[in-house]
Amino acid sequence: MKNKNSDPNFKSALKVNDGIEQPPSINSDAAERFKKVKRETLSVDDYVNGIRTANRTILSKAITLVESSLQEHEALAQEIIVKCLPLAKKSVRIGITGVPGAGKSTFIEAFGKHLTETGHKVAVLAIDPSSSRTKGSILGDKTRMENLSVDANAFIRPSPSSGSLGGVARKTRESIILCEAAGFDVIIVETVGVGQSETLVHSMVDFFLLIMLTGAGDELQGIKRGIMEMADGIAINKADGDNIHRASLTKAELKNALHYFPLAESKWETQVNTCSALTHSGIADVWQMVLDYVDFTKKNQYFEQRRLEQSRQIMIQTLEQSILDRFYQDKRMKKLLQQTEKKLMNQELSAYQAAEQLLNAYFE
Ligand code: GDP
Repeated sequence: MKNKNSDPNFKSALKVNDGIEQPPSINSDAAERFKKVKRETLSVDDYVNGIRTANRTILSKAITLVESSLQEHEALAQEIIVKCLPLAKKSVRIGITGVPGAGKSTFIEAFGKHLTETGHKVAVLAIDPSSSRTKGSILGDKTRMENLSVDANAFIRPSPSSGSLGGVARKTRESIILCEAAGFDVIIVETVGVGQSETLVHSMVDFFLLIMLTGAGDELQGIKRGIMEMADGIAINKADGDNIHRASLTKAELKNALHYFPLAESKWETQVNTCSALTHSGIADVWQMVLDYVDFTKKNQYFEQRRLEQSRQIMIQTLEQSILDRFYQDKRMKKLLQQTEKKLMNQELSAYQAAEQLLNAYFE
């Protein structure tokens, strides 16, 4: 039997005959641009211009840089962010939380569609510290937000893969800036209800929305009081069909419960609405609630104050983290730490003395 190894005349269908001209590229400019994006040879200005002109491929690539832990990517990402900062303005940042099953993704889809239909551009980011790329983060699931994900005025980005909670938060904060520079005027940050991430999301948004279900009694037990206190608005979801009546009862109960909470620093009283992410009833009211809040807090200057306070917190956290990193990465300190630990184990030093000596040595 003939085969390509034994027969010199064997003709493979894959063989390209000499002398046949390759067809010209249909759009050589576009092909060149595409190649450039693919090859990762973009300069800082290429990134910034791409983001400024709302090029999603470039925006996605810039977010990937922000999420990367490679030092060279980090440096490039920082340069891009600094140039995007003056472009990043005029957005409303909304944090959304709720127990799994409350209907967060269905709600975000309905809410997002309502916004794009009324002329807004919506970016959806997620914080899920438990996720990793391999497990597939919840937002990465393709069946979620099917309509919104193909909407030209929406941009959906799954949670960065797991890392320290602080690391994930920083990446999300920086991604918010990039999305704002790309012209997205409503930024939604979704959190998976795992306790700590709510506080982090709260620290990076203007408005914090809690999605709840009917049956306040049971539901209230599942939601920590602290999270209720953080909420600027509550949406009781699934207010449809037989559930409508129960949803209004829950609304009344919640409003009553909220009376006993101290007034927030913003002086805004937490609002409660019912809605159905399925039938879209009440979705526009939730957006109106956000607009009322923005109006109220811009008038009493809390809006700006909250953003400034968030910046201050970021500065302090970054400072603390870099001091720690530098200390532990310092070769001299690594050695000294080992030696001091030995002394501690041999009871030659107390724990406080050991810490004091290490600090003194570092700041010498
Ligand atoms: P998540 O875990 O909070 O993101 O919740 P999902 O959005 O995945 O919703 C959980 C389930 O509730 C899904 O089966 C949805 O179809 C359903 N669901 C979400 N919103 C509504 C709603 O407004 N009404 C009804 N009846 N079902 C809903």
